[in-house]
Amino acid sequence: MTTSTSTAARGGDWLLEAPGAGAAFTPEELTEEHRLVGRTTDEFFDGQVAPAIERLEQKDWDLARALMRRAGELGLLGVSVPEVYGGVELDKVASLIVSERIARSASFGAAFGAQANLCILPILMFGTDEQKRRYLPGLVSGETIGAYALSEAGSGSDALGARARAVRQADGSFRLTGEKMWITNGGFADLFVVFAKVDGEQFSAFLVERAFGGVTSGKEEHKMGLHGSSTTPLVLQDVPVPAEGLLGEIGRGHKVAFNVLNFGRLKLGAMSTGGAKAAIGEAARYAAQRRQFGQPIASFGAIRHKLGEMTARTYALEALMYRTAGLIDRHMAASDAPRHLALLAALEEFAVEASIAKVAGSETLDFVLDENVQVHGGNGFVRDYPAERHYRDARVNRIFEGTNEINRLLIPGMLVKRALKGDLALIPAARRLLDEVMTAAPPAPAGHADGPLAAEAAAVAAFKKVALLAFGAAMQHFGARLQDEQETLLWLADLAIDTYAAESAMLRAQAVAALPAGPLHADAARTVVSDAALRVEMTARQVLAAMSEGDTLRTHLAALRRVLKVTPADTVAARRRLADATVQRGAYIFAS
Ligand SMILES: Cc1cc2nc3c(=O)[nH]c(=O)nc-3n(C[C@H](O)[C@H](O)[C@H](O)COP(=O)(O)OP(=O)(O)OC[C@H]3O[C@@H](n4cnc5c(N)ncnc54)[C@H](O)[C@@H]3O)c2cc1C
Repeated sequence: MTTSTSTAARGGDWLLEAPGAGAAFTPEELTEEHRLVGRTTDEFFDGQVAPAIERLEQKDWDLARALMRRAGELGLLGVSVPEVYGGVELDKVASLIVSERIARSASFGAAFGAQANLCILPILMFGTDEQKRRYLPGLVSGETIGAYALSEAGSGSDALGARARAVRQADGSFRLTGEKMWITNGGFADLFVVFAKVDGEQFSAFLVERAFGGVTSGKEEHKMGLHGSSTTPLVLQDVPVPAEGLLGEIGRGHKVAFNVLNFGRLKLGAMSTGGAKAAIGEAARYAAQRRQFGQPIASFGAIRHKLGEMTARTYALEALMYRTAGLIDRHMAASDAPRHLALLAALEEFAVEASIAKVAGSETLDFVLDENVQVHGGNGFVRDYPAERHYRDARVNRIFEGTNEINRLLIPGMLVKRALKGDLALIPAARRLLDEVMTAAPPAPAGHADGPLAAEAAAVAAFKKVALLAFGAAMQHFGARLQDEQETLLWLADLAIDTYAAESAMLRAQAVAALPAGPLHADAARTVVSDAALRVEMTARQVLAAMSEGDTLRTHLAALRRVLKVTPADTVAARRRLADATVQRGAYIFAS
C-alpha cells in the first residue's frame, strides 16, 4: 500500500517552493485499509486499554505485558515489520494511525512506543537477518518486551557522551558495564537496545537480553506523570554479550541512535495529535453539560474561543503529521533499495520535518491539555476527571526524544547544512529575494494565490519569503558562527515550524474545499494562518534586530514590511463556528 505515485520530494523543499495541488497527503485521503487499522486500534483501546488505565497507574506490569501481547495478536506492533518476521508491513501513514489512537492513554502509549519504535525499529533497520529472526517475532507478538537504553545520568541531550563501556573479549564477544537512566519499560523489559563505548571510545549499539546475567533494573522513578509507564535505571555489571549482539557496526552507534529518534519524533507528533483530539472531545462534552449563570459554559465567547483555538491548532498538527508521513511513503515508494534501507534514507531525508512534528506536537498538546483543565475549572484540578492526568502525563513530551530546545536547534542546523552542501537552494533564493525586495517594483505575486483560500495561500508564500530573508541575513551576518547563536537559531526554527504547519493546514483545507465540510476546514486553516502571521512577524523582527542596527536594520525591516502583507482574518467568527460544531459533535470534528 502506498500513498501516491508522484515523484519523491526532498526534505526542506517546501521552504522554497510553492507545492502544487495535491502535493500534501491529507487525512482525508486515508484508504479503506488505513481506516480498518484505525478501527482495530480503537476497538483494542476502548475494549482493553481504557478499562485498564487505573490498574496501570498502580504499576500492574503483568497487565501491561498482557496488553502488549494483545496488541501483538492484533498486528498492531508489527505494522512496519515484514511478514517474514511476523509483521503485517503497511505504510508509514498506517503506523501513525496506530500511534495516534494508542496515545489516548499516554502511559500505555509510552510503553507501546518503546516497544514498537525504540526496540523493533532499530533491529529492523540495522539488524542482521539472524538478529531479526531471533528477536522480531517475539517483539512483534508482544511475548518479548523491549526497551531502549541510551540516556545516562550525565548524558541526556549529549547522548554521545555516554560512559557505559563495552570491553572486547578475545573470542569476539563483549562485556558491558555502566548505568543507564530513565528507561521506559525498564522494570519489566526482556530485551534492551543498549548504547556503550567499545574500549571506552567507539560509540556502539548492542542487543542485551536480561537473561544474559548482570542486568538489573533500579527502582521505579517517582514521576510527575506517566505513572502507568515503567521508568527505571538500568544497571549493567560486566554483562556478557556475544559478538552477534552488536547492532550495526562498532563506532556507528550514532547512526542507530539518531535514525531511531527521527522516527520516534514523528511518532511522538502522532501521539500528541491523538491526545489532543481526545482532550478536545472531553472539553467539548464538559462545556456542553456544565452550566453557570443559567447557561452551558459552551455558550460563552471565552470558552468558544478556547474550543475553536484547540481545534484549529490540532487541525494544523494533524495536517503536518500526515503530510510528513506521506512524504516518507512517497520517498520509499520511489526507491529501489530494500525496504529497510529505503526507510532509513527517507527518515534521514525528512529529519527536519520529524523534528518539526515533535516540537509542534508536544507544544500543541500541552496547549490543548492546559485549556482542557481550564474548561473543566475546579474539576480540571482534581483526579475525578482525566483532564489533570493528561496534563501531567504530557509534560515529558517536551523533554524526551530530544528536548524541544535540541530539536529546535536541529531544524535550522540541518537546513543550513543542506544549503551549504548545495542540496537546498536556500542561499541563491535568499539573495534573489533580497534583490527583489530592494528594487522599486512590488514583490512578485505570491505563489498558488488563486482558487480557494487564496489569501491564506498568499500569506503562506509570504511566510516563506520572511523565513528566507531571516535565514539569508543570519547566514550572511554570522557565517560559520551561526551554529553558536542559539537564540537566533531558535527563532529560525520557529519561522520554519510556523511556515510548515500553516502551509500544511492551508493545503489540507484547499484539498477539501468543495466538500460539505470544506467551510469548517477553511475556518481552521484561516485561524492557523492568521495566528501564524502575527508570530512570524514578531519572530522575524527579533531575528533581524539581533544582527543589524541603524540603516541596515531599517532596510531589513522595510524588506520585511514589503514581503509580509497579511490582512488579519476574522478569527472570532471562525473559532466560534469551529467551537459550535465541536460541541454539537461532542468530539474533534475533523476526526479521520
Ligand atoms: C519519563 C521518561 C522516559 C524516558 N525514557 C527514555 C528511554 O526509554 N530511553 C532513554 O534512553 N532515555 C529516556 N529518557 C531520557 C530522556 O531522553 C532525557 O531526559 C532527555 O534526552 C533529556 O536529557 P537530560 O534529562 O539529561 O537533560 P539535559 O540534557 O541535562 O537538558 C537540560 C536542559 O538543558 C537543555 N540543553 C541541553 N543541552 C543543550 C544544548 N546543547 N543547547 C541548548 N540547550 C541544551 C535542554 O534542552 C534542557 O532544557 C526518558 C526520560 C523521561 C523523563
